[in-house]
Formats: sequence, structure tokens, C-alpha cells
Amino acid sequence: MSAPPDPAARVRFAPSPTGFLHVGSARTALFNWIYARSVGGKMLLRIEDTDEARNRPELVDLIYDLLSWLRIDWDEEPVFQSQRRERHRTAVESLLGSGAAYLCDADNQPVAGTTLRPGLAARFRMPAGRTVTFADVVRGEVSFASDDLEDFVVWRSAGAATFLLANAVDDVDMGVTHAIRGEDLLSGVPKVVLLLEALGVEAPTYAHLPLLVNASRKKLSKRRDDVSLGDYRARGYLPEAMANHLALLGWGPADDTEIRPMAEIIEQFRLTDVNRAPAFFDTKKLEHFNGVYIRSLSTTEYLRRSGPWLGEAAPWPAERMRPDVLEALAPVVQEKVRTLGDIGRYVDWLFLAEPPIDDESWRKAMSAPAAPAVLDDAISTYAEADWTPEAAHAAALALAERHGLKLGKAQAPIRVALTGRTVGPPLFESMVLLDRHEVLRRLRVARHRLAAQRT
Ligand code: GLU
Repeated sequence: MSAPPDPAARVRFAPSPTGFLHVGSARTALFNWIYARSVGGKMLLRIEDTDEARNRPELVDLIYDLLSWLRIDWDEEPVFQSQRRERHRTAVESLLGSGAAYLCDADNQPVAGTTLRPGLAARFRMPAGRTVTFADVVRGEVSFASDDLEDFVVWRSAGAATFLLANAVDDVDMGVTHAIRGEDLLSGVPKVVLLLEALGVEAPTYAHLPLLVNASRKKLSKRRDDVSLGDYRARGYLPEAMANHLALLGWGPADDTEIRPMAEIIEQFRLTDVNRAPAFFDTKKLEHFNGVYIRSLSTTEYLRRSGPWLGEAAPWPAERMRPDVLEALAPVVQEKVRTLGDIGRYVDWLFLAEPPIDDESWRKAMSAPAAPAVLDDAISTYAEADWTPEAAHAAALALAERHGLKLGKAQAPIRVALTGRTVGPPLFESMVLLDRHEVLRRLRVARHRLAAQRT
């Protein structure tokens, strides 16, 4: 059953373009969007770009780009807070005019007058003895005593409104009905409620989404955790998997089926069901979701989406990449990868002039007493065997038996000689994608290297 329609609902995502887009901000954007789409309301965008020192216009484009990547769209033109300075000034002067705010000088001493001028700041006059209450959709009823709050700055002497004032006035002017945002902003609401009351306008309904925490239940931090949405995209996370995972941070479907299309999430979402417990941004779970979403793609689509990791970013020279080999291997690679970026590790050995030898894998596989004999045998066996996966497999089984080894043990030195690693795609399917001559050459190179090491 869908949420009751509310076409008058207007929500907004209000990022400050001062750095990369944090996954917590992406979650906020997504919850706003899901809410708007679930009730048939409007999703607005406001760029809070008033911090001139830290603002970078290219970061605004990055925000648009990453929202679009997550399939989040918005209604109406984005509002730029920096273009609303005059409106903020008027709001502060109206507070000064009614006595709800007062001017003060550089030493914080009150100054008479109701007009802003250089060098003067303005503070909101906190009313005494008031108890103010508001209902947060997530947090429930929140009450506070005005006596616990100080006279806060609404206008800086440098000539600009503070965050609280600009943010509150813009919400009202944009007709925002629900301010859905991160819990870190909750503590400012009491001041905003009084500020808007003094301006004679109504505050939106607030919904503060729970904090995101890492595996040790600590608030996600730039230093400790991977928090940049753009970085996840660059590593090959699918937007569908990321959005699905973000949607579960503070909300869950009644039937507990977590991996599901966004249309179903929109169908089931209720803002009132968002819970206040800190939400675990579980990178393992995200990786699992990503694997599931990757495997749900057709192989053609999987390869198409892997394009960026196979192009210039790939470790092999472009002219050595063989699309036929890639296509043949794609279905088995798709079964194994966790991110689109993983593809390189599975196929690079086919396109590099020499296998990328991983030292740890080499040590593990080649320290076995039988390794030299296995390689010698493989060189003669694969000079003769039919060049099909089945024949390569049968030849390896016979070889293993001759050396009294299980297939896995016998296969390890061969795999490392050919691919450079102990783990990778199914060996027999993929080794025949190289020509026989190259397979024999790699086996001999490895055999020589091993002999050199042992003497
Ligand atoms: N610009 C604020 C931020 O990025 C968000 C303000 C809000 O959503 O009310 O933290």
C-alpha cells in the first residue's frame, strides 16, 4: 500500500558545496526524494553556497552529477543561497525593527539602531522563560527552555547572514513543508522555531534522520572511513546497489526483503517509520548488494558498465585487449566480482605481455616440493593436449594423479605461472583463451624463474 498522497508536500536537499559529497548527505538527498515521490510532492534543491572561502562552483556540478548518478531527480530550478543575500538582510532588518534582534559592535556590546551597517553584527534576543515544543517526525516531541539558549548571531559584521538565519528563511520562502535532514542539525531547531515565530511565519515540519556509524559504532569520519560517494562510484559500485543500501539507513521494509527495486521502496516508504537509532553504514553489506546487482545484469550490460575500467584506466596497453577474449570470459568474471572495478584483476593477465606476478601467490604455490616437476609435466602435457577447456581439465587431472596430488594442489603452480595469482577465474576455461604458444612460454618462464630461485 502506498503512502497517502500529499501533492502539496515540498521537500529539499540543501547541500553546501564545500567538499566531496558525503554518503550521509546522499542518504539525506535520497530520503527526501523517496518521500517526495512516495506522496506525489516536490523535490527541491538548494545550494547553500554562502561560504565564499570554501565554495567551489565545480563542486555544484559534482553534486548534480552524483545525484543524477543515483537516479535522484528534482523539480524546479535549484535555488542558490548566495543569490538571496538581500532577502536575508531584509529578514534581519525586520527582526531589528520589531526588537526581536539587536545590533552589536566588535566587542559584542549592544548598539542602538535598526539598520545594518559595516562592522556591526546582529543577535537574536532570546525571550526569557519560554518553553518551546516542536514535533520531529523521527525524534518525537522535542521541548526546550529558552533560558538555556543564548542570544545567537543572525548577521555577521562581515556583512552576511549566518547559517541558521539563511537556512530558516530560505525554507520558508521556498514553501518547504518538511525539512528532512541529518541529526547533526537537530540542535539548531529551537533557535529556528523562535526566529521564525518572531518573523511571523511557520516553521516546516522537521524530520531528523539518524546518524550514520561505522562498524565500531562511531560516527562516520573522513579520516577513518570511506565516506565520499564519488569514490564509491569510481571503484565500481552500481548506483542501484548504492541507492538500495542508502535507503535502508534508518528505514526498512515491513517484509524485511532488503534488496529490491527503488519503485518498491518508494511504494513502501513512510517517513513516520524512520527510526532514530544510529544507522550502520555497512561497507560489507554494500559490497554484497553490489555483487547481487552486478550478477542481475545481462553479460552485455555488465561489460558495457565495466567500460570505464577496461579503457584508459586499464593496466594493459589498449592494443593488447581482445574483445573476443573478454566476452568469452565475462560470464564467469561477472559471477565473482564485487565491484565493476574488480574486472581488471580477473582479466589483466590475458592482455599483459607478462602475467602480473603476486609475490605472496608465487611463494605459496611455488614452495610446494612438487612445483618444479608439476611445471615440467605441464609443459609437455599442454604441448599435446587438445585446446579446449574440457581437454585442459582432463589433462590436469591426469597430471595431478601422476604426482599424487589433488587437482587444486597440482593446479596452483600452473595457475600462478599463467595468471600471476592463486585466485582468479576458472583456470581451464580461461587458459585456452590464450594461445597454446603463449601458455607454454609462460610455463617455461616460471620454470626458469623457479630453478633460479632454488639454486
Ligand atoms: N547545508 C546544510 C549542510 O550541508 C544542510 C542544511 C539543511 O538541510 O537544513 O549540512
